Amino acid sequence: MSGDSKRASTLAVPVAELLRSPGAHRALSLQADLAGLSTTDAEVLGPVHLGIRLESSLGGIEASGTLAARWRGSCRRCLAPIEQAVRQEFREMFSVSPTDEETYPICNSEVDLSPMVRDCLVLALPLAPLCSQDCAGPAPDSYPVDNTGIAAGERLKDSRWAALDALRITR
Ligand SMILES: [Zn+2]
Repeated sequence: MSGDSKRASTLAVPVAELLRSPGAHRALSLQADLAGLSTTDAEVLGPVHLGIRLESSLGGIEASGTLAARWRGSCRRCLAPIEQAVRQEFREMFSVSPTDEETYPICNSEVDLSPMVRDCLVLALPLAPLCSQDCAGPAPDSYPVDNTGIAAGERLKDSRWAALDALRITR
């Protein structure tokens, strides 16, 4: 017996019992290694932690909960490496006979959570990560402050004030 074939099944949850009793629910705490999952700007560093509630409805299972993972990427402005945590809430439907693309399938009385977790994580990862919200980029000097519109030298002399001055009477 070589080659443990457990890798694909860490997020596969048997739901035969749940499906038999609509309204029943089950809470699970799972962990899966999805390292390598990435977008153009961020890469997940496994493992992904999953707090999930499965609730049975007619012909389907509603999965809701929170997933948490760490990711790494580069700051969009200064390219400094970033490593941060991401948390994402989810609520998705699984069905024995999915009728639309937003419903995940239930196969062999099992709910495979990995496609859902991947979809959620990809959406949760930042599109343009920053090392900090006010990161000024690699060379702050290359963003000169433009003051030319506020030239303050030309102060108009208002002749009405001159007139008042002239009217002022010395006692
Ligand atoms: Zn930065």
